[in-house]
Amino acid sequence: MSDTIEKIKCLIIGSGPAGYTAAIYAARANMYPVLYQGTQPGGQLTTTNEVENFPGYPDGVTGPDMMIQLQEQAKRFGTDVRDGWVTKVDFSGEIHKVWVNDTKEIHCETVIISTGASAKYLGLPSEQHYLQMGGGVSACAVCDGFFYRNQEVVIVGAGDSACEEAHYLSKLCKKVTMLVRSEKFRASRIMEERVRKTENIEILLHTETDEVLGDGNVVTGIRVKNRATGETSEIPATGFFVAIGHKPNTDIFKDYLALDETGYIINEPGTSKTSVPGVFVGGDAADHVYRQAITAAGTGCMAALDAERYLAAKE
Ligand SMILES: Cc1cc2nc3c(=O)[nH]c(=O)nc-3n(C[C@H](O)[C@H](O)[C@H](O)COP(=O)(O)OP(=O)(O)OC[C@H]3O[C@@H](n4cnc5c(N)ncnc54)[C@H](O)[C@@H]3O)c2cc1C
Repeated sequence: MSDTIEKIKCLIIGSGPAGYTAAIYAARANMYPVLYQGTQPGGQLTTTNEVENFPGYPDGVTGPDMMIQLQEQAKRFGTDVRDGWVTKVDFSGEIHKVWVNDTKEIHCETVIISTGASAKYLGLPSEQHYLQMGGGVSACAVCDGFFYRNQEVVIVGAGDSACEEAHYLSKLCKKVTMLVRSEKFRASRIMEERVRKTENIEILLHTETDEVLGDGNVVTGIRVKNRATGETSEIPATGFFVAIGHKPNTDIFKDYLALDETGYIINEPGTSKTSVPGVFVGGDAADHVYRQAITAAGTGCMAALDAERYLAAKE
């Protein structure tokens, strides 16, 4: 444990669009924010080549370039951007205690959590290969569906989000094949019905992904296995969408903050306030619905404004 405890007004945990937007607002409000980047500086967007739906980039931008620009903007107003992983918190008192890399202790008047969420993948080596290559594997239909216009795609998943994403893709793609592992959906009946009624969505029950096929660079098809018969077959596809859920990065907060059953932080509706005064949340850590860079940036802005008003009310 360190012997010098640092005292600060505003700590931001996470360096995705929510964290950097919160930093821009907090720095401009003279809150002298300190931002810890975590193990993924720039957040989820650094894993994608093309971001075409963030306003202000008419020609699109790569995820890494966009995140470097956000970091520069946050630094320009004085944000102290640091490397480090928050390993422990104690939100039981009025001053919020945070430990970085298990050693450095920081006492914060306000904390903005922007630790994001991680998409779950199947874990097949071929899936990971084409994911890393940017060659046709995606966990976000809204982000990447447009790249597969008039093409044939496969989506795996059986919950509400999978149905939502399959339906979204059906408006863009020639054909969507939906792989459901068991004999029934996990989605609500209304979502299942919507998918079933969509002409260009074919549903394969009892079916799992055996292999993502491709030419080494891009996906060309999916080999699937019928779990009832053991038979395998190949489905031609240029895109493979994985919609089996996300895991919010919120484990370290579970003893102090109200979380939902999946681990998303519960915020007071219409605000960024968590169940602990002085602790605010922005971005995907509290959002299982929209999960977009622009909504993360928007809620990051809300978190900084709420933190600033919290401090002003205490003065
Ligand atoms: C492949 C891919 C493509 C995408 N494409 C698009 C797109 O085109 N358009 C779009 O709008 N959205 C897209 N998204 C979604 C978008 O990336 C997310 O909605 C957005 O990044 C969420 O931002 P965030 O700030 O909440 O968190 P994240 O981007 O998830 O960042 C979380 C940050 O928290 C840090 N962190 C976590 N835990 C700790 C800890 N304990 N201590 C310190 N730091 C911590 C991480 O290091 C990271 O910096 C895409 C997502 C993926 C995965």
